[in-house]
Amino acid sequence: MFQRILIANRGEVALRVIRACHDLGIEAVVVYSEADRGAPYLRLADQAICIGPAAATESYLKPANIIKAAEMANVNAIHPGYGFLSEKADFAHMCRACGIEFIGPPEEAMRRLGDKNEARKLAKQVGVPVVPGSEGLVESDKEALAFAEAVGYPVLIKAAAGGGGKGMRIARNEMTLISGLNAARQEAQSAFKDSSIYLEKYLEIARHIEVQILGDRNGEVVHLWERECSMQRKHQKLVEESPAPHLPTSVREAICDAAVRLTKAAGYYNAGTCEFLVDPQNRFYFIEVNARIQVEHPVTELVTGVDLVREQIRIAAGEPLRFQQSDIEHRGCAIECRINAEDSQTFRPSPGTISHWQPPGGPGVRLDSHVITGYKVPSYYDSLIAKLLVHQPTRADAIAVMRRALAEFRVEGIHTTIALHREIFNTSAFVDGRVDTKFVERVLRPETQSN
Ligand code: ADP
Repeated sequence: MFQRILIANRGEVALRVIRACHDLGIEAVVVYSEADRGAPYLRLADQAICIGPAAATESYLKPANIIKAAEMANVNAIHPGYGFLSEKADFAHMCRACGIEFIGPPEEAMRRLGDKNEARKLAKQVGVPVVPGSEGLVESDKEALAFAEAVGYPVLIKAAAGGGGKGMRIARNEMTLISGLNAARQEAQSAFKDSSIYLEKYLEIARHIEVQILGDRNGEVVHLWERECSMQRKHQKLVEESPAPHLPTSVREAICDAAVRLTKAAGYYNAGTCEFLVDPQNRFYFIEVNARIQVEHPVTELVTGVDLVREQIRIAAGEPLRFQQSDIEHRGCAIECRINAEDSQTFRPSPGTISHWQPPGGPGVRLDSHVITGYKVPSYYDSLIAKLLVHQPTRADAIAVMRRALAEFRVEGIHTTIALHREIFNTSAFVDGRVDTKFVERVLRPETQSN
């Protein structure tokens, strides 16, 4: 097993990995930018190393600075968390070439699945349904127009290297398709240095359901059931839960089976997630693989009792999976609310100093957060400040406990999504489990709908 791990990330996920290291008796070294200097979670690490200025491109996204810190601290492995360099195959390669294990999948699997268009091809090869889409990358406007004509509008323009909703545009007619193609290409080029795009049929009503998997270096892959992530704003998740409400058992099993088939075919190991869209007829379509730990992983930890971050570390250290598919239980219902520093009406970021922080607690509540009273939320990074989770025997109980926890939660000095979550948990359609990816924008914030 490793003796020391460097965490190439910040905020709540850095703290999550520090805790997993300590639970395994491993020393945790964390890096930080100048904007995160003095952040309280850094004190919980065994060592903290500054890797550059506030801008992520000068610090958390700078492979050379991170490798230098790892060599200085003499670590055996690097945990990338999520975001930043976590899905960069070149970074994984660089770590391993320097004799430092990258806690994640093999580079080849990252390359293959990181390109969404390639991942779609592989899915088709192994009989996993994909959203109807262009045959491959779309090179010209003419090709795009022909595809849209054939499948019918609306269509969704997507960046092959995409993530975080960047490079994604809905086109409802020829005019918005042409302008959207240009805008998406530019956005993808500046965000990912890759302007490749492809098209999918845009599903007006869909649920986002994803499957957690774990695989080891011996080619064993198990799934840890699904998470429902349909409660979103701006195509980004707000609430995640497991099990997915009202999903027929046969569909649930078929989705989980598809996720295992696909990741096995890619030669995948470590933790990963296969994301699907599910239409009102319960037909499911693969959209992408996230080749890393995800923000919402604690939902799965609560219902299965498996500590995913510890398992990631064990797998990276070469240990075989300690369980088979039949050992993975699913108990009760877990729900997560993402607490972001943002205006709950407009979804604009709300950085600044937290003048009062009073988190909820008590039976059935888990809070993953790196902030305390007096913490200054920097404006440079993602606005996630906490993940509030509950675990109960039934969904109705979980909703009741979440309502209580949200009522207890007090944050002053900045705006947060807590107010929006309180609304969600008091909306009857959500309580009934009738959710889809447009729910928040259609039911609660119609003024924010893009098109
Ligand atoms: P990203 O990696 O940029 O987050 P994803 O492919 O994971 O993009 O999609 C994010 C969200 O966008 C999905 O959860 C869903 O709400 C929406 N979405 C993606 N593809 C489609 C589609 N073909 N039709 C309708 N909505 C979609």
